Amino acid sequence: MTIAYIGLGNMGGPMCRNIIKGGNDVVVFDLNPAAVQACVEIGGKAGGSLAETIQGADIIMTSLPMPTDVEAVALGEGGILENAKEGAIYVDLSTNSPTMVKKIAEALEAKGVRMLDAPVSGGVAGAEKASIAIMIGGDRQAFQSCLPVFESFGKTIVHTGALGTGSVAKLVNNMLAFCNMTAAAEAMMLGAAAGIDHDTLTEVINNSSGASFAYRTMNHKVTKGDWSPNFAVNLANKDLRLALELAEQLDVPMTIAPQVKTVFHAARSQGWGGDDVTALMRVYETLMKRSVRD
Ligand code: NAD
Repeated sequence: MTIAYIGLGNMGGPMCRNIIKGGNDVVVFDLNPAAVQACVEIGGKAGGSLAETIQGADIIMTSLPMPTDVEAVALGEGGILENAKEGAIYVDLSTNSPTMVKKIAEALEAKGVRMLDAPVSGGVAGAEKASIAIMIGGDRQAFQSCLPVFESFGKTIVHTGALGTGSVAKLVNNMLAFCNMTAAAEAMMLGAAAGIDHDTLTEVINNSSGASFAYRTMNHKVTKGDWSPNFAVNLANKDLRLALELAEQLDVPMTIAPQVKTVFHAARSQGWGGDDVTALMRVYETLMKRSVRD
C-alpha cells in the first residue's frame, strides 16, 4: 500500500515521519525542500511534483494551512481530482471548514475517490510523540481501511460520524481552547496588575478550579518568553473564523468567541500573525505597558 503525504509543516512533518517509521511506503511532497528532505532521510520518497506524488497512491493525505490551500491541492491543477486513481481514499488532516470538505468530497466521488475529514489535536509535541487525537468523519469502511495508518501517528482515534463531523468536532474544540487561552491571558495580567507574583498565582491556579490546559500552555510560553510558533496565530485565527462561520450558518448565538476574535485581530495587526498563538498575551502586555513578570 502506498501513501501520498502532502504538507510537511509543524504538524504534518512529525505526523508523516511517524507514518514512515511505522514501516509504511510513503511518497512526500511540500513546497519547502528542507521539509521533504527530513522525511527522505528516514525512508520516505520525494514525490518530485504534486501530480507524481498522488499518482498510484492508495491513500492520499494532506496537512495544509488554509481551506483554500486544501482546495488548490485537491481540485486544482495537478492535484488529487486530476491524478488520484479510482478506489483511492483521500484523508484531509488539516483543520478545514465542513463546507469545503463536502465540496471536495462531492467532486472526488465522481472519480471513485472517497474522502475522510480527519483533523488532529495535541500540538507539535503530541505529533512528535504520536500521541495526538484524530477525529474522523466519513464512510466507516474507508475509515477502517485507514485505521492502521491512523494508529501509526495518533493515540485517540475517534470516528465522529458522517463526512464533515471531524471538522465540526475540531472547530468546536479549538473555539473552546482559544476562549480558554484568552481568559488565561486576561487572568495572568489581572493578577500581575494587582501585585501578586506570577509564579505564586500560577501555583494557586494550577491547583484550583481555574486550572486549564490553556493556562498551563500559556504559562509555559510566558515563562520561557518564547513566541516561536508551534501553532501560529494566523492558523488559530482561521479556526476561530471557521467556527464563527459555522455558528452563522446555524444561527447559534455566540457571545464569547467574537470577543476573543477581536484579540486575535489585535495580535495580527501588531504583526504577530506568524508567532505562536500564546503571543496573544502580548496584546495585554502592550495595552498595559508591562509584562506579567514585571
Ligand atoms: P505549517 O504552516 O507549519 O505547515 C504547512 C505546510 O504546508 C508547509 O510546510 C508548507 O510549505 C506546506 N504547503 C502549503 N501549501 C502547499 C502546497 N500547495 N503544496 C505542498 N505543500 C504546501 O502548518 P501546521 O502548523 O503544520 O498546520 C497544518 C494544519 O494542521 C493546519 O490546517 C492547522 O490548522 C492544523 N493544525 C495545526 C496544529 C499545530 O499545533 N500547529 C495543531 C492541530 C492542527
